[in-house]
Amino acid sequence: MKVLFVASECAPVIKVGGLADVIGALPKALQALGVEVTVALPHYAKITNPELAEQSPFPIKLFKNGSELFDGPYDSPSAIGHSRKEERRFKTFNLIVFDWLKNKDFDIIHCHDKHASLLPKLLETLKTPKSVLTIHNMANKGSAATGLSVGIKFADFITTVSPQYAKEIQTEKFGEGLEKLIQKRAKEGKLEGIMNGLDTDYWDPKTDPKVTYKLQEDPVSFKVHNRRRLLDYLGLDLDPKVPLFTFVGRLDEQKGFDLILTAWPKFSKEQHVHLVILATGDPDYARRLRDTEVDLDKFFGRPEVTFIDKFDENLAHQIYAAGDFFLMPSRFEPCGLTQLIAMRYGAIPIVHDVGGLHDSVENNVTGLVFSDYGTPALVKSLEQAIELYSSPDMAKIRIRCLSADFSWGKSAKRYLDIYHSLSS
Ligand code: ADP
Repeated sequence: MKVLFVASECAPVIKVGGLADVIGALPKALQALGVEVTVALPHYAKITNPELAEQSPFPIKLFKNGSELFDGPYDSPSAIGHSRKEERRFKTFNLIVFDWLKNKDFDIIHCHDKHASLLPKLLETLKTPKSVLTIHNMANKGSAATGLSVGIKFADFITTVSPQYAKEIQTEKFGEGLEKLIQKRAKEGKLEGIMNGLDTDYWDPKTDPKVTYKLQEDPVSFKVHNRRRLLDYLGLDLDPKVPLFTFVGRLDEQKGFDLILTAWPKFSKEQHVHLVILATGDPDYARRLRDTEVDLDKFFGRPEVTFIDKFDENLAHQIYAAGDFFLMPSRFEPCGLTQLIAMRYGAIPIVHDVGGLHDSVENNVTGLVFSDYGTPALVKSLEQAIELYSSPDMAKIRIRCLSADFSWGKSAKRYLDIYHSLSS
């Protein structure tokens, strides 16, 4: 079985968000099942270290636009939305990849998101290979001419990144206007939600070179040491008896920043706890977070939130390892990887009951889950977190998080079944 992945990101070559993690990890899991996977990526000017593509355990082919590098990857700071320029860039990329693959013997072209959504239509003109489209985020649907609607219409099979999100995108609330089209493909039996996994070798608290104190037998000392190290690095002093809250991710409406911005000041008036946020994206949220940082500092005479406005892979690992709780109050969440990473590093997730968060976090078992998207519900969950922190249940929940299985194995097998069903 020969499969070509076509995508806009692939870790570690070029990463903006979770899509890169998936494209960097799923091919390895498929290889372990005997599938030959090649990844096609635009060769962006922003790829500073193209050798990473050569060193990858699976072939990564970087496509130039003639002799030119592509701009990008994206034009908008939070990665969602699209400009004409961005649309043209990915249209060209799809056409170039199509020309190239015509003379190859791939069985399946696995297209990811709007950036590869024109390919299923182009492939209609050939008998083989067959196409699979994975929807990683409906909110990033792109244009009617080249975006997700094209891929959804023409792909031989459609997947999305969690079972719950597969249901949600068939509704008006989450379908971004494409729900009727998605319902039609679902009725034909051509839609399935397959949960994303993690590259568990890379995200491994026992061996992670980016984390100073590795996880050994005792999860508490793993947390305590990494927390102290992070607080020292940030110049913060926090009472060891109170929990450290964390967030890593894109600054985007999707991630529930409106709730964080309203809930946190309310909550921290009562509790002298701390929230560390590592995030880049929407400049308006960045400004409001900076204002909150200053206001709380003035109000309490000490900072109650630290906002780090950069993309920093090393620091992200340290924050997962240091945090007691991980906030993810997303308005919607196709799968979400950060809650999985947090759990793997023993940071208990606080999540909105939606999409992949619904499928991966169980209330009071592996995290804290709230249903009604709004400030009061998040404040309530934060208060529950304080109670939980000093109760014996904390250790139990942490152990369950640390021992959960987030590997790709089962999901990769499901993808392979789909490939077989299309190519036989
Ligand atoms: P999304 O794909 O919606 O951005 P995910 O939860 O699926 O969200 O994945 C986000 C990925 O990007 C994770 O690997 C996370 O650690 C990483 N990430 C996001 N923002 C940052 C940042 N500012 N610095 C470092 N890593 C980040």
